[in-house]
Amino acid sequence: MAERIIIANGTLVTPQEVVQDGTLVIEGGRIAEVSERRVPRSDPGVIDAGGKLVVPGFIDLHVQGCCGHDVWEADPSAVRAMAESLVRFGTTAFLATTEYNPPGIAAIRSAMADGCPGAQPLGLHIEGPFVSPRRLGAIPESYCWRPSLSALEGILQTTGPDLRLMVVAPEVEWGVEIVRELAAAGVRVAVGHSDATREQAAAGIEAGISHATHLFNAMRGISSADIGVAGTVLTHDEVTAELVADCIHVHPAMLALAVKLKGPHGIALISDAIRATGLPDGVYRHRENDEELHVRDGAVRLRDGTIAGSTLTLNRAICNMVRRADVPLREAVTMATHTPARIAGVAESKGALEAGMDADITVLDNAFEVRMTLVRGRIVHAEGATGCSSLSEAGPRSLSKAGPRTGPKGQGPTRA
Ligand SMILES: [Zn+2]
Repeated sequence: MAERIIIANGTLVTPQEVVQDGTLVIEGGRIAEVSERRVPRSDPGVIDAGGKLVVPGFIDLHVQGCCGHDVWEADPSAVRAMAESLVRFGTTAFLATTEYNPPGIAAIRSAMADGCPGAQPLGLHIEGPFVSPRRLGAIPESYCWRPSLSALEGILQTTGPDLRLMVVAPEVEWGVEIVRELAAAGVRVAVGHSDATREQAAAGIEAGISHATHLFNAMRGISSADIGVAGTVLTHDEVTAELVADCIHVHPAMLALAVKLKGPHGIALISDAIRATGLPDGVYRHRENDEELHVRDGAVRLRDGTIAGSTLTLNRAICNMVRRADVPLREAVTMATHTPARIAGVAESKGALEAGMDADITVLDNAFEVRMTLVRGRIVHAEGATGCSSLSEAGPRSLSKAGPRTGPKGQGPTRA
């Protein structure tokens, strides 16, 4: 049973307000109190946040890999390693994301069934296989299938009840019927990797699409003649959208425009993280074969220059939204917490600093660096870096549970 922890003197970002010098009480793995009550910092179990930001743990709907591991390894221990590393970046829950890749999916499901250390995998986010060959981005052609309802049936058997989000291009043959079947099966359907016109995208939304994967990327954009997928998503309030806010995938002005049109409850910040996330620039093996991911200045590309995921982390995404897209802090935090919680179907227990919620908590300094992460009331990462002495005083017991300080061994960059 997780113990009682009090985080005092924090800048708490709640759904309603930003509370200065606030107190957060955690009991039995849940938030017991969020208040302005002053607590003596010398009390046992008190962590002095020193005015740092205390926010809900991030919920990342789009994680392919992290810190030397990814879903393509098709190994449950790789998925567990991803979960364990993600807390270094403040992420406490995520959707494990991949193309329709049955061995990888089996690994995710096995890791979910056995439980993961660190961040909690909430389910599967599958990109394809019914996507547009014209908007594949980094998806290999062999992972784009000829659509059929019988193929869909087989896919649903493979994913089982763990499928949370599936990306479909509604304009492909049988696309609208596939959307309808998925929505009827309780799966949230996302438009993505799609060349749909406004009419085709609207037909998909009518059939049950309620989300858009990496808005603006690998989809038909806006022109004066056709607002395309991006414009249709922006103008349908009932459709939520993901943004890769690394300022590489999407320009900061476009990030600001998306928030202006959809509001913080319509946008989820995602990382689209790959195995090089958290590791240095270099050349990384991709999909366990001869492909390579070239990471330069944090941007990830295939050999031919195609963008292939990112090395963004959600603390940096929030920083970019605040500093480069001029979005208020509370809204940026909402987009990394409450909104993705709603999309993943876990908003009853996650995504807000409120009494009764899971104590998934992230503490950020004023440079948006992650100083501490708790999952269900347990400290899973604590950074005792310079300028964070108050948090490093959380106790040797807590600090001994800290996540890896350096990148995992064995899967660092390999030179081509
Ligand atoms: Zn994609």
